[in-house]
Amino acid sequence: MKTQKFLLSFNKQLAEKPIVYHLVKEYDLVINIFRARITADEEGFMVLEVSGTDEHISQGIDFIRNNGVTVNAAEKGLRWDREVCTHCGNCLPHCPVDALYIVNAATREIAFDSDKCVECLNCIPNCPYGAVTSVF
Ligand code: SF4
Ligand code: SF4
Repeated sequence: MKTQKFLLSFNKQLAEKPIVYHLVKEYDLVINIFRARITADEEGFMVLEVSGTDEHISQGIDFIRNNGVTVNAAEKGLRWDREVCTHCGNCLPHCPVDALYIVNAATREIAFDSDKCVECLNCIPNCPYGAVTSVF
């Protein structure tokens, strides 16, 4: 049993299909949807966490890919730009799960753990330098 986070993107027609239902019913997966949105360009995005056996996750992801959904396991819904971040620490008290955290106590260097991030977006308005942005 493992848990994995994915960024899905799809066209508007696919947004009307019960993709998540199939993942739950046919592949016995537990789904936690962090956020979902259809943009003005009618492109759909969803960030979700999937829990299940390796085999079921792999089969479920293959199923939605075969139905036209682009599945991205590497990139999530939030981007943290290491080059832009000044390590000011302003975001830290606003992150409920310590996905933005101090990686080095001596230098106060900040790092970002995208797997921990629950996509609440609190950090975006609390970053004075625009180092965190939403993919959608
Ligand atoms: S989106 Fe929320 S959980 Fe993710 S890093 Fe920002 S504050 Fe933390
Ligand atoms: S508020 Fe922005 S610049 Fe400051 S530590 Fe957080 S991500 Fe980096």
